[in-house]
Parts: sequence; structure tokens; C-alpha cells
Amino acid sequence: MQRLQGIAVSPGVAVGEALVMDSEGFRIPRRFVSRDAVDNELERLEKGIAAATAEIQANRDAVAKELGQQYAAIFDTHMQMLNDPKLRSELDSMIRERHYSPEYAVSRTLRRYAKVFQGLPGGAFSERASDVFDIEKRLLRNLLGRRREELSTITSPAVILAHDLTPSETASLNRNFVRGFVTEVGGPGSHTAIVAEGMEIPAVVGVGPFLTDVSGGDLVIIDGNQGLVILQPDEETVARYRHEVEEERSRAARLETLRDLPAQTADGVQIALLGNIEFPYEVDHCVERGANGIGLYRTEFLYLSATTEPTEETHFEAYSRVVKAMGKNPVVIRTLDLGADKLAQMPSPDEERNPVLGLRSIRMSLRNVPLFRTQLRAILRASTLGDVRVMFPLITTLLELRQARMVLTDVMEDLDEHKIPFNRDLKVGMMVEVPAAVMMIDRFVEEIDFVSIGTNDLVQYSLAVDRANKDVANLYNSCDPAVLRLIDMTIRATNRASIPANLCGRMSSSTTYTQLLLGLGLRQLSVTPGAIPEVKRLIRALNLPQCQAIAQKALLMENARDIKAYCRDELKKVAPELTQH
Ligand code: PEP
Ligand code: MG
Repeated sequence: MQRLQGIAVSPGVAVGEALVMDSEGFRIPRRFVSRDAVDNELERLEKGIAAATAEIQANRDAVAKELGQQYAAIFDTHMQMLNDPKLRSELDSMIRERHYSPEYAVSRTLRRYAKVFQGLPGGAFSERASDVFDIEKRLLRNLLGRRREELSTITSPAVILAHDLTPSETASLNRNFVRGFVTEVGGPGSHTAIVAEGMEIPAVVGVGPFLTDVSGGDLVIIDGNQGLVILQPDEETVARYRHEVEEERSRAARLETLRDLPAQTADGVQIALLGNIEFPYEVDHCVERGANGIGLYRTEFLYLSATTEPTEETHFEAYSRVVKAMGKNPVVIRTLDLGADKLAQMPSPDEERNPVLGLRSIRMSLRNVPLFRTQLRAILRASTLGDVRVMFPLITTLLELRQARMVLTDVMEDLDEHKIPFNRDLKVGMMVEVPAAVMMIDRFVEEIDFVSIGTNDLVQYSLAVDRANKDVANLYNSCDPAVLRLIDMTIRATNRASIPANLCGRMSSSTTYTQLLLGLGLRQLSVTPGAIPEVKRLIRALNLPQCQAIAQKALLMENARDIKAYCRDELKKVAPELTQH
């Protein structure tokens, strides 16, 4: 049994067989072969080794010709290792006696070899370990025949263990079979994490290198509440976690009774509890849990899961589905927020050195007006179907906001000309997720109908911490006093201007911060659909004056750790049974 600590990004517990994708995207299966298939499998191994040897030989000859014999020596080492009789006899006996598949035998044996080199003092032999991994990959490529097996085509229950998953790979995972996932890299605010939450599968990211310790088919536990991953758990641990899975199920069932009750504090203050969604189907999760609307529809996921550029009709269909499902409740459609880690097939002029500071989000829309107009037309057309609102992401300057509004007005005129109906009084809002926007918030609120505070980015940009980088995850704190001041400034300005403020970053989904956020003056929270029941339950137990006192005290504190501990203590006082994510 081996316990690994990572970053908890999507709650819940999963127990299942591992499907391992290494950094090059090889799927490493543990497949036992039947007794009568052994001879065929041995032959397959033989052919695999021969093909890999031929590849290395060809490389060696090419390099020898170009650069000379001395540079080709490295390939000789690889060939010797690959054809080492000891290795061969180990592989043979694993297949013959234990009935392992050649892939599994190769991966298991060579990883063990690599570990021996890695473990030698001083790191002098780390290159040898790389050579062994190199051979493993070459051999697997020859045995498996293809790389990165389509994750979307999984047909039996599994937990995915991968070096990394992009947001679109995560989005394509088949929810019927994927029980959860773990990645070696990734930070607390990455969009991969957000997608996992939206799909409601437990996920842990940023575990660090561990894939060499695990093989496909091994039993794994993912504890998405604590950020724990347990490899090859003992029976007692499995039993404990299976029990926890049952408990979670019954807790969720108990919370279902809250669906039709209002999100109102004990002293009678009404809070709008809205859902964040990435895909239209998630609207059903919001309806099931009695959301008061959609506070954030991340439309860029239309692009991330598509192979061709979505047409106006594709946009319109997706929006219509969401708006109709929400009836009279508001639906805030955010215009494309592509770029940074949400970059898919979008053209990028050059390799971006700092994509988070680069051509992303509203900047990309304003640089590509036809694309922006297509989306705005679809939003406007859908605005006749319900209470649709439009929101611009990553607004940094007033000029940017005005440019975006100009394009919107232009599209409205165009629709008018063609007698296509739309809601002329459509509310227009902006995300507040850049410190510069907070510094200018008194001016922004004069030109906008509502704001939504995006703490995921606001934390990143105010604390200068990459939200997707595990190595600085400890510095990525939503409750940093500097962030609290920025939220406070924003809410004060919106109150003075009498326009609503929402908070749609991940912070609002955590019951740890509900009292603090209401105390700072928020009357709307937009959360991941899975968090609606717990947040609602908590809201119903709160008194506003107490929340205000908590917020005032937190604003005087000096560091994130104290603020978080204080918020946790206060949560324990009012709702000790609520888990804290
Ligand atoms: C945010 O930045 O807080 C936000 C809600 O937007 P996203 O996570 O999509 O960047
Ligand atoms: Mg954002």
C-alpha cells in the first residue's frame, strides 16, 4: 500500500482499477493472457523486440552516417539492453508462468530496472534510467501499435492515472466508466480541475511523479476530499473507503430534500444560488438541485470539445437547451474565454511565452471579430427564449469593455436589419478577475449592468501565482487578505452603484467561505452544481450579522492561513457536519 498526497480538486471517493497513461500517452494495460494464448504472446513479444531492434539499428546507421561512429554508440547500448538474455528470460517467464501480457511484463520489468538506476546515490545513473524508459516506450509502441488510446473509448469502469490531462481530454472522458482521475501535474485552479468538478467525478492533481509505481489494473483509491491517492490498498482500507462511498450516496440523497427550499438565511435574507456550467447537459444537474439560475456558462467548452469551429447554429442550440431548461431563471452566458490552458484549435500567432498574460479571452475575441460576432448573434437570438444575460471575461480596461459593447451593438443592428428578434434590454455584465479592473471598478460600474467576481483568475493575477502549477499551489490562496480586499472593494462599488455582484470562482463552492462571502455583502453565489445542496444547507443555518462580523474580523487578519483557519472554526460552530472542500 502506498499513499500519495496531491491537490484535491473535485470531491468524492472512487475505488477502482487503474488505467495508466504515461507522459507520452501510452496506455499501460494489465492484461492476463489465457493459458493457450501464451505461445502466441511470446511470439508477439519476439516480433516486438525484433521491430524495436530494427528501429534502433536504423537510427544508429543514420546517425553514424551523419555524425560518425562515436555518436552512434548510444544506440548500441540500447540494443544491448533490449536483447539482454537476462531481460528476455525474465519477460518470457512472466508471460509463461504468470500469464502476464507482454505489454504488462515489459512495463513492469523495465520500470523495476529503471528504479534501481534511479535509486543509486548521487543521481549519476539517472541517464541510464532514462535509457531504460526509452526502451520501454519503444517496445510498448511496437507492441501496442498506437499511441494515446482514445480516452473517450473506454468501455469498462476505471480510474485514470495520467501525467496530465488537457481540459478537452477531460471533457471527452466517458462519465459512465471513468470513476475518477489523478494527474502528476496540474494546480488547484486548472480548467482540468474545473471540468472534473462539472462532471462530478473525484479528482486529485499535482501528485508529482508516481506513474512508474503503478500498473494498469492495479486497485487504486482516489480520495477527492482529502487529495489522497492510495495505490494497492489493503483490504481494510478498501472496506473503509467503500463504506465512505455509501455514506456519500446517502448524504447526497438526504440533501435532495433541500431542492425546493429557498436559499435563505435563518434571519430571512434571500441569496441567489446559481450554477456554473461548462456543458449544456450540466443544466440538468442545476435543475435537479434547485439552482436559481446559471451564474456562469463557460461557452469556450463548445470549442474545446469540437473538432471543427462551432457554427452560429451550434452555439444557438447549446444556449437554447440551457435557457429553456432554466425557464424564467437567469442564464449568464459568458463570451469565449479561450486561451491559457483552454487553448484548443484556436490559431495562435506565435508560440506564447506567457499564455496566461497573452492573447486570451476577451482579447482573443476582439482580435477575431467575426468569431465574436457569430457567438453574440447566437446569444442574442437565444435571448428571446428566457432571461439571458451576456458577460465579458477578463476585462482589464474601460476601452476593452467599450469595444466589446460596440461589437454587441453592431450585431444588434445587424439582427434588426434582418428582422431577427432578440431582447433589446439584454443585461450586459463583466467578470472582475484582473486587479486593474478592481482599481477602476468605480468607473466600470457606471457602464455595466452587473459584475461577477472570478476569483480563480483574480487570485492568479493578484498574487502572481499560476493557477495550474502544482509547485506554487501552496501560494494560491483565495482567502489571502489582498484578495479579500479586492473582493471587498468590488462589492462596495457595486453597492454604491446599485448593481448586483456575483462571485463565480471556485471559492464560492466551498462551504468554508460562505459566511465570509455573505458577510462581505454578496447576495449571489455561483457554484459548481454538485456544491449547491451543501451551500444551500449552510446558508439556511446562517445569520447575516454573524457573517458580517466574521468578514470584518477576517479583513483585519494578515495572512491566508489564519483567515482559512478562522473560517473553518466558524463553520464548525454553525455546521460541524459539513465537509470542507
Ligand atoms: C474565474 O476566473 O474565477 C472564473 C470563474 O473563470 P474561469 O475559471 O473559467 O477562468
Ligand atoms: Mg477566469
